[in-house]
Parts: sequence; structure tokens; C-alpha cells
Amino acid sequence: MNQIWNPEYEAMSRDELRELQFKRLQMTLRWTYDNVPFHRDRWSAMKLKPSDIRSLDDLRKLPFTVKSDFKAAYPYGLFALPLEKIIRIHSTSGAISNPTVVGYSRGDLNTWSELCARVAVAGGAHSHDVAQISFEYGLTTGAFGMHAGLERVGVTVVPTSTGNTQRQLKVMRDFKTTVLVGTPSYVMHLTEVAPRLGYDLKALDLRVALLGSEPWTNQTRDEIEKRSGMSASDIYGLSEVIGPGVSYECWNKDGLHINEDHFLVEVVDPETGEPVPDGKEGELVFTSLTKEALPVIRYRTGDLASVSCRPCACGRVFARHSKVYKRTDDMLIIRGVNVYPSSIEAVLADLEGVDPRYRIVVSREGAMDQLEIQIEVEPSFMADTVRKLQAFQSGVEERMRQELGIRPRVRLVEPRTVPVDELRKVVDARDKPA
Ligand SMILES: [Zn+2]
Repeated sequence: MNQIWNPEYEAMSRDELRELQFKRLQMTLRWTYDNVPFHRDRWSAMKLKPSDIRSLDDLRKLPFTVKSDFKAAYPYGLFALPLEKIIRIHSTSGAISNPTVVGYSRGDLNTWSELCARVAVAGGAHSHDVAQISFEYGLTTGAFGMHAGLERVGVTVVPTSTGNTQRQLKVMRDFKTTVLVGTPSYVMHLTEVAPRLGYDLKALDLRVALLGSEPWTNQTRDEIEKRSGMSASDIYGLSEVIGPGVSYECWNKDGLHINEDHFLVEVVDPETGEPVPDGKEGELVFTSLTKEALPVIRYRTGDLASVSCRPCACGRVFARHSKVYKRTDDMLIIRGVNVYPSSIEAVLADLEGVDPRYRIVVSREGAMDQLEIQIEVEPSFMADTVRKLQAFQSGVEERMRQELGIRPRVRLVEPRTVPVDELRKVVDARDKPA
């Protein structure tokens, strides 16, 4: 069924949309200039003021914001409001290096739930549904964002959080879950183990899957839909911009509609930073148009996609971007968690007595991504008792877990096991879309 949560905005004319975007952009730039010295200083150094931005295209005069700006401003340097006006903080993982910290005012949380309500309804959820959220409830944005959006729609929300597959399935059956929210790899995993645990997903009440936090292919979608009987749609977002709710698939499942009344999108050549022609692939760049606590100006996501304003059969006017599979940097996404090889390197550099000769191997076992770090150690080290080696391995795994947010497998190998051209590199053995 094709329903639109907020047709006043989602189906407004593109001319009205452009006008609204420009009005909101001017407000955002003034607000940012007045309240965030980081941006004001950079713009001033270029002799630019908000009043110099006289059209949407003029935005290009302003500098980009990048991930390292968040790290340098850790924790609150990019906030436009004092902490007393901030009522929620989210953050990426990171115990050694500085994580990315984001904050929300009461108004921001209201905006966020509105955007996630659009996501939920576009994917097929309505107020009679029971939604089970298997994203992690913690510092990351996924669970809390979708939770608020689904509640706003009037859906009954069951916050199961991650893991404990046996209980997930029991809840799914007994609570009569109709909407499942999670990472595609976890839902794929559920479809694989359910029969072994005595569950027939197709015989349950499941109807809709809202899946995100990691790249996934249409082939995975087909497989999940076939095995579970659910209609699965893609949800996209990143915490720097707001979290889930940046863009979403409608029933048409041909690109993700960007909430353009709240985010201005640009697609740029990752090398030059110049705009690419309409419909060509480039790096997605977002500017927030309504955020209070943490306005983002020309934020480079590192995600590669193309954007098209072609009208969609669903009636929404918002432009669509293609599914995101590729990045401009070496960031890995493992079970919905963003992992930078540099964070792995930082943990290893912090270990005493380990020569940092290693490689990172990413593979897929069943539906789940596995992260393995193979570290070369001297033969004398290998001569230690098995118990000592295991203690060392699990010690490193625990340090990694604290830093990365997921626990990798650590394997100690003899010197010269890792081919020279793979030292300190990532070997990604997962399937890629053609
Ligand atoms: Zn559509």
C-alpha cells in the first residue's frame, strides 16, 4: 500500500521545495555563523559571510566539513547550543582515538522522529503494526532514531536490541511482530538460523523489514524477501548528519528519497570536490537545513552514489540517490559498525612487544561479516604456553572491542605468513555487487 506520512512536504512541488530550501539555508548559515566559531573563523578567513550566499548554488563558495573536523572539535566544539539546551548525545565508538560526538536539542529530536516516521511509512509500516528493533540501543543512532519515528506513527515498538537470536525469534512469534528493523546481515542471519531453531518465518506475522546501517545488495534483498515473506526496504543515514532518516526507499525500491526539505544534497567528484553532472556517481555531501544543536555545512560523507530528480511513481518529489555500496576512504562497515583500519593500527601500536606486522581480513561466514586481524609474532612468542597465547589473543580482542565497538578475531601467525603486499592492508573477501 502506498502511503505518504507527510504529503505536504514529501509531495510538494519542486519549485516550492527549492524556495523552502533556500529560506532554510539562509537561516542555517546565519545560525551557524553566529554560534559556531569553528565555521565563522573559516568563513571569515575566506572573507565570506552568510549574506554572500545568494542562491543554493552559492553554497559551493563555502568550505567542506570533513570527519576529522568532528574529531578535532571533540567533544562539543561544533555545537551551536550550550549543553543545557542539548537533551541527547550520541557518539561513534572509540576509546583511544576521539569518537564523533553529536548532540540534539528538543527541536532536533522532534525533527528526527518526523524524518524517521517518513522512513517507516514509506517502507510500509502503519499504526497497527508491532515493530521489533534489533539495532543496538546504545551510543549509536540507529535504534533510537527508528524507535522515535515508529512511535510517532503509532506503531507498537518492541526494543529487543541486538543479539540473542533465540529470544528475538520467540518475541517475533509471541508478540506478533509485523515490522522488523535491523541490519540486513543480522536479518539474513535470522532467516538462516530460524528453521534450525524450529521457527518458520513465513508462518509468522512478519510483513515489513526496514534495514540499514550497512551496504547491502538487491540480491540480499531478494533472498530476505523470499525466505521471510517480508517486503524489505533500505534506510540510510549517518550520525554526523542526523542518524537514520536522511533518506529512504518507497515501495518502488528504485533509489532512496532524500528528505530534501531538511537536507541539501550535493554530489561531488571525490578528487576535485567539484560537482558532477546530474545522475553521475560521486561523493554525497549534505548540508542540514533545520538542525539547531549541530548544524552541518557541506559535510563530506565518504559515501559514493548518484542522485536523480526524476519523478517517482510513489508521488514523492524528493530526489533519489542510488544504493550506497562504495566509499571514498578505507572505512569498513562490519555488522553495521563503522571500522577504520587506522583505529586497528592505533590499538596495535599501543601494545607492548608486538611488531605491527599484520593484515586485516574481512570475510562472510553465513550471513555475518567476520573481522579477523592476523598479527605476525616471533617464533619465541609462539613457544609460550597455549594458555598464555590465548590470554594474549583475547586481551587484544578486548582492546579492539573497546576501540572499534565490535569484537574481531585475533590470530597470531608466524613471521612472513602475511604476504608483503598485504602488510597493514585490508583484504576484503566479501561479495560485492556487480
Ligand atoms: Zn518513490
